[in-house]
Formats: sequence, C-alpha cells, structure tokens
Amino acid sequence: MPREKSTRSGGRGSRKKSETTPQTPETETPEVYPRNDHCVSRSEIDSDALKIMYRLIRHGYKAYLVGGGVRDLLLGKKPKDFDIATDATPRNIKALFRNCRIIGRRFKLAHVYFRNNKIIEVATFRDIVESSESSPSSDGEASLIVEQNNVYGTPATDAFRRDLTINALFYELSTFSIIDYVGGMKDLNSKTIRIIGDPKTRYQEDPVRMMRAIRHAARAHFSIEKKTLAAIQNHHALIEEASQVRVYEELRKDLSSGSALPMLRLYGDAGLLQHLLPELLLNDSVLLKEGSFFSEALGRIDQYACESKEELPTTSILAMIALFLLSYPSSFEDLAEQRLDREELNDHLKSCFIKLTVPRKERERIDDLLGLWLRLFQTPLERVAKLNLERRRSIGDLALLLRWLGEDSHEGKLLELVEEAASKKSSGQGTKRRSSSRQGRGKRGNSEQKSTSPNRSKGKTRSKRSSSRRGNRRQKSSE
Ligand code: ATP
Ligand code: MG
Repeated sequence: MPREKSTRSGGRGSRKKSETTPQTPETETPEVYPRNDHCVSRSEIDSDALKIMYRLIRHGYKAYLVGGGVRDLLLGKKPKDFDIATDATPRNIKALFRNCRIIGRRFKLAHVYFRNNKIIEVATFRDIVESSESSPSSDGEASLIVEQNNVYGTPATDAFRRDLTINALFYELSTFSIIDYVGGMKDLNSKTIRIIGDPKTRYQEDPVRMMRAIRHAARAHFSIEKKTLAAIQNHHALIEEASQVRVYEELRKDLSSGSALPMLRLYGDAGLLQHLLPELLLNDSVLLKEGSFFSEALGRIDQYACESKEELPTTSILAMIALFLLSYPSSFEDLAEQRLDREELNDHLKSCFIKLTVPRKERERIDDLLGLWLRLFQTPLERVAKLNLERRRSIGDLALLLRWLGEDSHEGKLLELVEEAASKKSSGQGTKRRSSSRQGRGKRGNSEQKSTSPNRSKGKTRSKRSSSRRGNRRQKSSE
C-alpha cells in the first residue's frame, strides 16, 4: 500500500464538455504517489520513450507515460509498449520529432519511429467525448479525439475516458511520481479490476471494454469488482453490437496472451462466451472443465506463451480448437480414433467459429494446417519421413499444434520429424523453390519463416508475424 500521498489540482482549463459526457467524479484532484511510494524506476522505461518525454518537457509541454506501460511496471512486468500522453497537439509533436508521423483519419495521434521497427505512440490528452462506436486506432485503443473539432482534454479527462482504473495511471518523469485520478493505485494493491465510471454506460459506449476487463483480470490474476462484473453478466449481449473485426482482434490477443484458459472460463462465467465461442459451451462445457484434455492442451499453450513472451500464431490455436470441436475428445486416444477424410474436415471447419469473423486468409491457413495434420496423422511414420515436410507452408504451425496436443500417434516421433522440418524451413533450406512466390505474398511469407524459427520457441525474437499484424496500423520505418 502507498505510504503517503499528496494531491494537486487537475486543472480543467477551457475544455468543452459534450452533451454525452459521462459523469466524472466530483473531484479531479489526483492522488500523487512520490517516488518512494511506488516501484517504477526510470531505468525500466524504454530509453526512446524517455527521450520523447524529455524533449516534450524541455519544450514546455506536459508528458506522461500512460496506460498499460505504467500498469505493467507497477506489477513488476515488462511492458509490451510504452505510450505517452501529452498536452502537445499532433502538429506540435510533429514539429519536434523528425521521425514522426501523424496517423488516424478521424482521430489524430503521433507515432514516433525508432530503429528495429520500434514505434512509440504519443497522444494528446483526450476529452471525454464518446463516439457511438469507438474505433481502434492502434493496439485497439479507443480513439476519442475528433480532429476537426480538435477536442483535446486535460490529464484528468484523459484519465477518466480510459477503461480500467489500473490502466489510467500516469508516470510523471520530472517528479518520478505516479499521478492517479481514478483510484488505480488502490485497485492495483488490492488486485482489483474496476471499470472507470458507471459500468453499464461505459460498456454501452464501447462493449469491447467488457472483454478488456476480463482479459486484465485473467492476465494479472486479479478479481473483478462486483459492479464491474455484474454489469457484464447483465449486459454481455452488447458485445454483439461491437465491431466484429475488433472483437475478433481482441479475442485473438486473448488466446495468445498466456492466459487463454482462465480467460475463456471467465468469459463463460460472465456470459460473454456464448457471443464469442459458443461451441465451447456445448456438451455441458466439457472442454473447459478442470483436468479435461482440452484444458490441459490450452494450459500448454499458455505455458508456451509465457515462456516465449510473445504473441503466438493464432492459426495453430484456432486449429487446435477446431480439432477439439470435431468430437469433443476427452483423451488423445479419442482424438486419434477420429476417422475422417479431407472433405469432412472442410465441412467441419466451415461450421466452426460461427460467431467470429475469422479473416478468409486465416481460415485458409487453418484449413491448410489441419489438412497437413490429418495427412501426417494417417500416414505411417516411415513414409512421413520422405514427404519433404520442410516445403509445407504450415509446417511451423503444425510443430506448435503437435507440441500443444502433448502427444502424437507415433510416440513422439512425428513431433520430432515435424520440428526438424520446421527448423529447416526457417533456416531457408526448405524454401528455395518457393522464395519468389513468398516475396509475392509479402508479409505472410516473412512472418511464416520467422514463426518457425528455433529462436522463436526460445523467445529470443519478437514475432514478425505479430509485428506485421500491428504493422497494418503502426507502419514501420527507421529513425
Ligand atoms: P496490453 O498490455 O494488452 O497492450 P493495454 O492496457 O496497454 O494492454 P492497449 O490496447 O495497448 O492495452 O491500450 C492502451 C491504453 O489505452 C489502455 O491501457 C487504456 O488506458 C486505453 N484503452 C484501450 N482500450 C480502451 C477502451 N476500449 N476504452 C477506453 N480506454 C482504452
Ligand atoms: Mg498496450
């Protein structure tokens, strides 16, 4: 618990309140936790993020580290990204940083580019102006600035428009203190997930916040505050109104986050699962039960994700789920007994993930992967060895799938062969004949190669596949 805290004025300035502004608490005076009362050290903050903040401050602007970066540092975890909030407008930011691009059509944000594809997002403090459907800008962040109106806010409004109290903490570099407008520090200390403001209103504004509340509870092993959870249980159907692309993207992140099993169970308890993966609720939710074959396999995915510390390829995870939806097997023997041909498999895949908008290309990859799995599963081992597996597009994904299933029909020998082929493919030995076509396929070809790299399983490289996905929104360049 924080030992001491001080307060300071939040300063409303001249911000205009919109008609739809949600109720903010009476006081906008934050609690300030000085350096001695928190564990965030400058040395853990990315040096480029520090440079940006220092430069902004030198030019007379406010600049705080915000969002997930502060939360993770306070939890003793390595943040995925370091986002900065400032009172400088995107134009002001661009004037200060040569390596900067303003992104967003309706909502302007600055991306500052560094070596090794690093991008730091610098956003102007936002006002509490809600759009009916929050649209993602980067990393799914709901963007609330309307460019034409230039509706920028203050640190206080920026904090209140965020989703969870633990995601709304600011780290101030000039004083090394944590500024807390919403009670996030207390919630962090008591391991509580709490939505900011009235839960129902906040979920109506953006139903994806229900998923985010559950994700952060599962990921941090926090419990969800009563009203925050009750409103999800009462209004889970709102998720059907959210952008399908966004919902898929959020679920994809969830599945590869290292907490997929607790997350799916929490989704089930909160009533959200029926809108996302209702197939998992069939047969009395047998797949999600403690000790089930499926939950053990998911547990292995989670363990793998934690060890590799990076986003896993969704293809292998969705393929594994599809495999279990074939017959809800309770053991590997059950799964192995499955006799089906390619056509039956195709039909099955078409019937999977009915509530999700899985992109066509992803469905094709799942189809290819499970086709390969089926073929190898039904082929005698001596013939498998002669199949030039390293030339198969899905070999890396198959290596992961077999590993997560935990067993194979050939006493581990199949996994050995597949991993060897995947490793050959990633080192280029199996890809020469296809190099021209891979160039033609752009990102996917590269990411595929990376995803099968031996380093990948040791967690030493950042997944190109995940960064290329992000690349759609955060375009790469060097400083
Ligand atoms: P992760 O570690 O998964 O990146 P994160 O909390 O940083 O978690 P981001 O999607 O990167 O998640 O969002 C950054 C910040 O933006 C969040 O911490 C939160 O303050 C804010 N945010 C994101 N999504 C929403 C939303 N739907 N509504 C309100 N605020 C949001
Ligand atoms: Mg983040």
